[in-house]
Amino acid sequence: MAATHSTRMLILGSGPAGLSAAIYGARAGMAPIVVQGIQPGGQLTTTTDVENYPGFREVIQGPWLMEEMQAQAEHVGARMMWDSIVEVELSQRPFRLIGDSGTIYTGDVLVIATGAQAKWLGLPSEEHMKGKGVSACATCDGFFYRGKKVAVIGGGNTAVEEALYLTNHSHDVTLIHRRDSLRAEKILQERLFAHPNIKILWNTEVDTFVAGGEPEGLVGIDVRNTVTGEVSRVDVEGGFVAIGHSPATELFKGHVELDSDGYITVEPGTTRTSVPGVYACGDVMDKVYRQAITAAGTGCMAALDAEKFLAEADFEATNAAVAAE
Ligand code: FAD
Ligand code: NAP
Repeated sequence: MAATHSTRMLILGSGPAGLSAAIYGARAGMAPIVVQGIQPGGQLTTTTDVENYPGFREVIQGPWLMEEMQAQAEHVGARMMWDSIVEVELSQRPFRLIGDSGTIYTGDVLVIATGAQAKWLGLPSEEHMKGKGVSACATCDGFFYRGKKVAVIGGGNTAVEEALYLTNHSHDVTLIHRRDSLRAEKILQERLFAHPNIKILWNTEVDTFVAGGEPEGLVGIDVRNTVTGEVSRVDVEGGFVAIGHSPATELFKGHVELDSDGYITVEPGTTRTSVPGVYACGDVMDKVYRQAITAAGTGCMAALDAEKFLAEADFEATNAAVAAE
C-alpha cells in the first residue's frame, strides 16, 4: 500500500518561495512538508554569483544560498520529501496529492511554489542536439566547453549572465539576440559590452543547430539576420539557449485559475488562489519581478495567508462543535 504523509501545510517546490513559506510555516507550528520536485533548491542552483540577495556583503553562490535556506527550514521543523507531485485533487480538504513515487500527501492547506522551467526555441535541430552541444544552463554545462567557441541565445539577464560566465571557460563567446537592444539590466549590459571575448550578433535568430562529427556533436549554428534575411554560420561547439522560463503549472490546469500565459492567478495583494486554502508564491504566480527576493517575499506571504485561513477554519470548527453539544 502507498505511504501517506499528512500535514497541516503542504508545500510544493523548494526554491526561495517554497523554502521561505516552510520557514514561516514551521515557526507558526504548521509542521510543513516540502515536496522538493526534480530541482531541489530551484532555479538558483543553476547559477553561480548572486549579488542582489540582501544580507551578504560578499558575492554569494546560488547553490550555497539554497542549501542555507533548506538548512534553516529544516532547523525550524520543516520536513523535506524527495519526490515530485504528478496528480492533484483539490475539490475537498484536506487536499490530496500524489507523488511520482506513489506516495500520497495530504494537506489542510497547500502552497504552490513550483516556479518556472527553461523555455526552448522549439526547433527540431535543437531537440536533436540537446545534451550533444545544446543546453539551457551554462553554469551547469559550460565547463564541458573549456577552450571551445560557444554561443548564447537570448537578450535578458540570464543570457547576459551566461555569456559572461562562459568567458571563464571560453575565449570566444557569441551572444545571438533577435532584436537590436537587450532586455538585461544596464549593469550587466555594461559588463557584456566591455568584455573583449564576447561579440554580439544583433537582429539574429537561430535557423538550425548543425550536427556533425563522430561522436555527433554541435559544429555550428546557422543563423538568419531578421533585417536582411541573410543566413550565415557561427562556428561553435556549444549553444546555450537562455530565452526565459515558463511557469510550472501544467499540473494545476482545471484545478486552480491560471492566466492566459499559464501563471497562477492570485487575488491582488495576497497569495490566495481561486481555491480557498490553496496559495501560490514565487515565479509560478509572478511574471513581472521573478527574483529570488520577491519569491522569498511571496513565500512568506503564502505562509501567513495560510496560517490565517487555518486559524479561521479551526475557530469555525470549534464553534460548530460547541453549538452541536
Ligand atoms: P524556483 O526557484 O523555480 O523553484 C521551483 C521549485 O519547484 C523547484 O524546487 C522544483 O523542483 C519544484 N517543483 C516544480 N514542479 C514540481 C512538482 N510537480 N512537484 C514538486 N515540486 C515541484 N534572481 C535573483 O534574485 N538574483 C539572481 O542573481 C538570479 N539569478 C538567476 C540566474 C539564473 C540562471 C536563473 C534561471 C534565474 C535567476 N534568478 C535570480 C531568478 C530566481 O532564480 C527565481 O526568481 C527564483 O528562483 C524563483 O523562485 P521560486 O521558488 O518561485 O521557484
Ligand atoms: P527574460 O527576461 O524573459 O528574457 C528572455 C530573452 O530571450 C529576451 O531577450 C527575449 O527577447 C529572448 N527570447 C524569448 N523568446 C525567444 C525566442 N523564441 N527566440 C529568440 N529569443 C527569444 O528571461 P530571463 O533572462 O531568463 O530572466 C527571467 C527573470 O529572471 C527576469 O525577471 C530576470 O530579471 C530574472 N533574472 C535575474 C537575474 C539577476 O538579477 N541577476 C539573473 C537572471 C535572471 P526579447 O527581448 O526580444 O523579448
